[in-house]
Amino acid sequence: MIIAIDGPAASGKGTLAKRLAAHYSYHHLDTGVIYRAVAHALISRGADLEDAAAAVSAARGLDPATFDNPALKSHQVGTAASVVSAIPEVRAVLVGFQRQFASQPPGAVLDGRDIGTVICPDAEVKIFVVADPKIRAHRRTLEARARGEAADEATILADILARDERDRNRAASPLKAAEDAYLLDNSHLDIEGGVRAAIDIIEAVRAGRQKV
Ligand code: C5P
Repeated sequence: MIIAIDGPAASGKGTLAKRLAAHYSYHHLDTGVIYRAVAHALISRGADLEDAAAAVSAARGLDPATFDNPALKSHQVGTAASVVSAIPEVRAVLVGFQRQFASQPPGAVLDGRDIGTVICPDAEVKIFVVADPKIRAHRRTLEARARGEAADEATILADILARDERDRNRAASPLKAAEDAYLLDNSHLDIEGGVRAAIDIIEAVRAGRQKV
């Protein structure tokens, strides 16, 4: 069983995916971390983020052991990730790793931008998470401050809007809901409410009920 959770930056899809994986005892992959790791490798080497050859080489040398590096979580690395992830050759290098992860028994939850559309188009359940950009910016600001980063909400909102724009309009695997995805708007839901809504969707699909 594969559960695909897609959505824009700071929509809460990562926390939701982690909670769903724990609930069903499935494997979980936050695919944003992969692009963040590539961006971080380029920044550390002082390479240009738009240098496709350097980015492809960083993607080929990706080490999953680095995925829990706290430096990958920063807002700056997220913005840099949205630049490298627009390079089609970088995405192509990373497809195999993601599909292999998704195929692990008994199941996997992957969250990202193109899981339901490109990486796992046959996923049994696809959920596209959305939330009002102002609410996303507010949540991200609180998270950044909790990590001890200085965070200005207006700057974060501008970055989120720019990132949405770049993710939606790129030619390679743009951010968009799969036709058979269920839309989950968590603007006014807390984490528990979002998890419950997602489990309801998954259970409805499993029970073979009609699309909700
Ligand atoms: O979700 P997260 O903020 O960690 O993603 C960072 C960036 O990586 C996104 O803005 C997006 O450009 C890119 N990304 C992607 N495809 C994915 C996951 C993330 O292009 N499956």
